[in-house]
Amino acid sequence: MNNEHSAAHEEASVGARLLLGCIADDFTGATDLANNLVRAGMRVVQAIGVPDQPLDTDADAVVVALKSRTLPVDEAIAQSLAALRWLQAQGAQQIYFKYCSTFDSTAQGNIGPVAEALMDALAGLPGGDFTIATPAFPDNQRTVFKGHLFVGDLLLNESGMQNHPLTPMTDANLVRVLQGQCRRKVGLIDYQVVAQGDAAIRQRIDQLRAQGVGLAVVDAISNDDLLRLGPALKGMPLVTAGSGVAIGLPANFGMAPSRTASALPAATGLQAVVSGSCSLATNRQVQAFIRTGRPALGLDPLQMAARKTAGADVVAEALAWAEPLLGQGPVLIYSSADATAVKSVQGQLGVEVAGALVERTLAAIARGLVERGVRQLVVAGGETSGACVQALAIRQMKIGPQIDPGVPWCHAQTGVASQAGLHLALKSGNFGSDDFFSKAFRELI
Ligand code: ADP
Repeated sequence: MNNEHSAAHEEASVGARLLLGCIADDFTGATDLANNLVRAGMRVVQAIGVPDQPLDTDADAVVVALKSRTLPVDEAIAQSLAALRWLQAQGAQQIYFKYCSTFDSTAQGNIGPVAEALMDALAGLPGGDFTIATPAFPDNQRTVFKGHLFVGDLLLNESGMQNHPLTPMTDANLVRVLQGQCRRKVGLIDYQVVAQGDAAIRQRIDQLRAQGVGLAVVDAISNDDLLRLGPALKGMPLVTAGSGVAIGLPANFGMAPSRTASALPAATGLQAVVSGSCSLATNRQVQAFIRTGRPALGLDPLQMAARKTAGADVVAEALAWAEPLLGQGPVLIYSSADATAVKSVQGQLGVEVAGALVERTLAAIARGLVERGVRQLVVAGGETSGACVQALAIRQMKIGPQIDPGVPWCHAQTGVASQAGLHLALKSGNFGSDDFFSKAFRELI
């Protein structure tokens, strides 16, 4: 009885500290959002999936990373509502639904349906009948002007996103796109209103509400627009956006940028990089690391498949290569290759078989490296990162200082490492400067 009482009390007191509860529709997008919040002064934990226990660490915001972007609508809604319930149980004062800065969705969703399901769940709260929607992040070349999304200088539907295999974006008019996914009426808060600041934005929201609008796309053509938008969102139960809007929210809770927000435990242990990304930036990073003269082991998927068929243990072989070298500094194990090589491998093994083979192998290698004392691990590739985090059974990560835009160091507990835990940098394909693999470790000192 007593135990139950004190557990409930502990949960309530931890919950009372959680300010912002975030639901992200994919893994690297979650990290991107968390990184912006940390830079604006919040202490942030990223959870991988909906946690099954109360939050056991101090945080101002939690980002629950789902993989709901391309799930069937009903499943995306169910997972998002489960995340909402957990965040509310931790006392979250405001909910932030995060999607991609290119508004990745199909004609059916999932942005609109998930946003509306969250609105339905929050309808009882003051202001719960209205929310905003904007993927704008001008510093990252995503601007919204008169409701139209630009990627750099190009309209969304001319940016290459019109050919995306899963979520082709063929219309840059977000009011129209979102309206096609929503039951509620969708409106627009345009750049002229945003330029006038907080009071004008609130006035426009009241006007839209009176017109029966439930969601409004918001223009932002500079990061200053996002900072002007921030105060107008104070107290709004639900915000839906890309990661950009996050730069203006921590100030609503009295928080300002500080070094303590990104503080992580001191780094210990050995260093390694595992790279399964074949993006242009990653290929440059692999070459730059090799030029430093540090040890690098390239894995060819065709050889990998052949050696596996012959009964060889490619994971054990890679670890045997790495083990004697780890004491002298970072090592790199990579499958990264240029587009021609990747096409040829995919042609012979099949796209999915090649991808899964490489992901599984690199994830097992990452786990083996941590078992051998690596405590500072850089992983390149979004899918590769997901596989490594899964192999290491990591459930949550504290977000630390930024290495390059969108890529912070994180710290996680894993049953594979000792109590001291593991420092991780999870880099999605095209992020990071050419010297990222060396620079990342310098940033931890
Ligand atoms: P990115 O973030 O650059 O898109 P991902 O890790 O998300 O990187 O995706 C890269 C995919 O390519 C993974 O499924 C990975 O297993 C696969 N892959 C990696 N190396 C090769 C290769 N040499 N040939 C074919 N596929 C590869």
